[in-house]
Amino acid sequence: MIDEKGLRTDGRRPNELRPIKMEVGVLSNADGSAYIEQGKSKVLAAVYGPRELHPRHLALPDRAILRCRYHMAPFSVEERKSPAPSRREIELSKVIREALEPAIFLEKFPRTSIDIFIEVLQADGGTRCAGTTAAALALADAGIPMRDLVAACAAGKVDGVLVLDLNDIEDKEGEADMPVSYMPNLGLISLLQMDGSLTFEEFKQVLNLALEGCKQIYKLQKEALKAKYVAIKEEVETCLQS
Ligand code: UDP
Repeated sequence: MIDEKGLRTDGRRPNELRPIKMEVGVLSNADGSAYIEQGKSKVLAAVYGPRELHPRHLALPDRAILRCRYHMAPFSVEERKSPAPSRREIELSKVIREALEPAIFLEKFPRTSIDIFIEVLQADGGTRCAGTTAAALALADAGIPMRDLVAACAAGKVDGVLVLDLNDIEDKEGEADMPVSYMPNLGLISLLQMDGSLTFEEFKQVLNLALEGCKQIYKLQKEALKAKYVAIKEEVETCLQS
């Protein structure tokens, strides 16, 4: 998994992220949306709300409820995945919701719901993190007031080496995988899971590596949001000139 030059299966150095592309406002029928490509993983997020809640008995008098569905398309993995929600998808929907919840001013929208749909189009490891990153962008794109963006990234251990942003094979063959989500402005970690085993020293180093990755992703998120408004501004200016 690590060659004699210290490089990984896809040629990356241990502390290097995969190439990342992000775009905001990609779906016209959702209130907010975003698309992310992180290496070979491709994930789409759509947000609706705040909107009237059905069934109504779920409504809370003092805040909005946040609902999240993480779903893998049947064609997203090598072996066709059943479209029905698996145990893993139910778990990921819950942890992603909890990762995003502290970022949103839910108390501003009592008796409503905010709904997030995450569709994994192609999976090559790290999809819960890519899904969280895209969902935070889609929430911002929907104009939902937020305390901070949420950036997510995994780090772990492969062949005895601590590495950032594991791909599928590194996730499966490696010794440990730790997905983390982080809100840099608030200094708040909202997701921390771990698969495998690490010493306490390694744990601290892997956590720091993941946080560094989150900070780089956070910068890309802000650029993606700005890019949308630059495009709108240019469109308006062209309209005004003609
Ligand atoms: N995976 C798969 N089939 C499945 C679920 C997962 O092939 O039904 C692959 C997929 O590439 C995924 C990877 O295993 O990205 C790692 O899955 P994990 O549960 O660790 O979540 P992730 O790293 O995607 O957040």
